[in-house]
Amino acid sequence: MTMTVDNLSQILKEKLTSSFGKSLEDATTKEMFQSICLTMKESIHANWQMTQQTYDEKESKQVYYFSMEFLLGRLVESNLLNMGMLNLYKETLLSLGFDPEDVFREEHDAGLGNGGLGRLAACFLDSLASLQLPGHGMGIRYKYGLFQQKVVNGYQVELPDNWLKDEYMWETKRGDKAIEVRFGGTVETTVDNGHLQFHHHDYERVLAVPYDVPIVGFDNNTVNTLRLWSAESTTNHFHFHSSRGHDYYHYLDYKRSIEKISEFLYPDDSYYEGKILRLKQQYFLVSAGLQSILHRYKKRNKPLEQLSEHVVIQINDTHPTLVVPELMRLLMDEEKLGWDEAWSITQKTVAYTNHTTLSEALEKWPEEMIKTLFPRLYLIIHEINERFCKMLWYDYPELREKIPEMAILSYEQVHMAHLSMVGSFSINGVAKLHTDILKDRVMKPFYTVFPKRFNNKTNGITHRRWLLNVNPKLTDVISQAIGTDWIHQPGQLTDLIPFATDSAFQESIAKVKHENKVKLANFIKKQYDLTIDDQSIVDVHIKRLHGYKRQLLNLFHIIHLYNRCLEDPSLDLIPRTFIFGAKAAPGYSFAKQVIKLINAVAEKVNNHPDISSKIKVVFLENYSVSLAERIIPAADLSEQISTASKEASGTGNMKLMMNGALTIGTLDGANVEIGELVGTENIFTFGLTSDEVFHYQREGEYRARDYYNNDRRLRNVMDLLVNEHFSGDDVEFKDIFYSLLYNNDEYFVLKDFDSYIHAQSRVQEAYQNQSDWLSKSIVNIAQSGMFSSDRTIQEYANDIWKIKPTTIGNLIIK
Ligand SMILES: *Cc1c(COP(=O)(O)O)cnc(C)c1O
Repeated sequence: MTMTVDNLSQILKEKLTSSFGKSLEDATTKEMFQSICLTMKESIHANWQMTQQTYDEKESKQVYYFSMEFLLGRLVESNLLNMGMLNLYKETLLSLGFDPEDVFREEHDAGLGNGGLGRLAACFLDSLASLQLPGHGMGIRYKYGLFQQKVVNGYQVELPDNWLKDEYMWETKRGDKAIEVRFGGTVETTVDNGHLQFHHHDYERVLAVPYDVPIVGFDNNTVNTLRLWSAESTTNHFHFHSSRGHDYYHYLDYKRSIEKISEFLYPDDSYYEGKILRLKQQYFLVSAGLQSILHRYKKRNKPLEQLSEHVVIQINDTHPTLVVPELMRLLMDEEKLGWDEAWSITQKTVAYTNHTTLSEALEKWPEEMIKTLFPRLYLIIHEINERFCKMLWYDYPELREKIPEMAILSYEQVHMAHLSMVGSFSINGVAKLHTDILKDRVMKPFYTVFPKRFNNKTNGITHRRWLLNVNPKLTDVISQAIGTDWIHQPGQLTDLIPFATDSAFQESIAKVKHENKVKLANFIKKQYDLTIDDQSIVDVHIKRLHGYKRQLLNLFHIIHLYNRCLEDPSLDLIPRTFIFGAKAAPGYSFAKQVIKLINAVAEKVNNHPDISSKIKVVFLENYSVSLAERIIPAADLSEQISTASKEASGTGNMKLMMNGALTIGTLDGANVEIGELVGTENIFTFGLTSDEVFHYQREGEYRARDYYNNDRRLRNVMDLLVNEHFSGDDVEFKDIFYSLLYNNDEYFVLKDFDSYIHAQSRVQEAYQNQSDWLSKSIVNIAQSGMFSSDRTIQEYANDIWKIKPTTIGNLIIK
């Protein structure tokens, strides 16, 4: 039976009545949103059950993607798209007098991630289900996601993200699958029948309760699971005596201390903080996740020796590294295997993805902390380290002097990346350049020891969300030109290449881009009462705020243009709208100053009578998945200007490319691969290469001050930071100024300034020839299929996971 607008209208009206006691006329948009979700869930849940059943029957090998972050955003539109019902629902809502966009926006973003790493995990789940692969997410159900950002007087202010305030429509609590996780206590060793036994006493019990979110595949019946764990207290070992009231308060204190474990997401991106609660969160995820996996595996009645034929665990960065010792513990202490058997199973089951080479992001935990919180794991880590160091000593005499820097335990710290590399069968970077840097530099001695473990998996993004959902007009224009096969096979977007010079096709691409700009301009007008020129170049810099991402370099170009306009009011500039979206970690004061500076520059520029028609600067607050979805379709230029070697891959670059934006970027992360695909004439590359950056870092011969002294333009820009031009206060931006001159500009902003300014004038020149620009834009769209996460996930499936699709049959619907 195919559903019609009439059928669906009827169903939704009945749902409003049965769930809310409302007639259509009285229903709020929120109630309509919830009715839609309830209706969708009926068919999703049937396929969900069928999927699990099929996996069990066919004994398909299961992938578990362990990640401390899943930045899902909203799910309603992507679920509808994947179910093939998006247009039907939109039409039905319209016919019922609702604006579909308003209804969909009732969903609160699930912001359980900081940025790229968490969004990657979300894109991967979508691709796994869409490729019919048995792959599931394992994460934490934080009560508060990443903070909401407000801008007040130009400053970032953080507010709690109470995303569970209204019911989360997609989750299902599985109270029956709760698991106990143990913290602290002591370990006693005994010898029974000549076997060493470990007994854990006096630990604190935490109940891990799973909340499952269905992950719906595109145009198939697959529904995989994202399992999010919530920490709850166990009441059963607490006894209340009515005469002893303090027991009750004691209990409340205890309950609160337990619930803190899954209370909030740490708001740091590419930065490591040795906070004890964060370490508890990591173990909580790892222990609950592994126990639930082993529980399910045992139902297959297979020996544990075959675990790696049925299960693979991919860890997203080092945050879930404790899977290595925890799996060892479960196999040895609970399942009574010996060390060698347990080690062989663990090593064949765990695979590790590295996301960064930034030293401030490499996780190292004090040994003391690990010992106190996880006394048994500490013993296991110690043993792994001993065996690893011995192996190095005997088998790699040439590496003997490197043992201290390769050890898992050294200088009273546990090195999580080392533990991950030693305990896994695969180590991957996330872009070609990044993987090469791991192999040749950062992890070189490990590459010598484990050459076969290293591999590259260039990141990707789901084209369903980042093209079909966010840009339906572009989707239609593409399909009119080349048909619809590309939707299942995004690599076929290359069929667009012959259309790059087709003037009719260029025309339709231009029309879509303009319509998207108008839409964004309307949003900005409504939200900020700021008028932006829908004919201007939309220049977009959206990502977390970080020194290495160099929002400051972009801003210096803007200030430079502003200075040129002041000097020459008749200067011929193509109007530009500079859009920023970025959250700064609450404790990262440099990043917060940059936000204030962007807003201060915006204030000056946007209110200047002669300049505001040429340059507009907009800082859009609360950068998030939903905001990204509004901005990206309207972008002409994508700012990917990180210091070379610092951005492992980037994925924002891919989303923007796929929507026809041209990249201005350094040869960093996946920009390199974008450049190789589109050709040098279709990207604006500039700046130091990663080798040059390494050279300057090693030789220490960069002197930032020389660039300030010798480049008048740069001096004119920088002096404005400390002479009260942008702020009534000459110390407001002095930390920025000092970091560049006195801390010698760690991220080479001054060094790359000249090259960047030149690249920006090439942008303006290229934009002048609209036909040429459109042809470049089309080539970018055409080559973006390589960056679909379907391609990435297929590579993981073939090379690392060794898994094949499992087709889920059709349900017979009444
Ligand atoms: C894609 C995405 C990111 C990652 O952006 P980069 O430019 O790769 O750093 C961060 N945050 C959100 C909300 C995203 O959608």
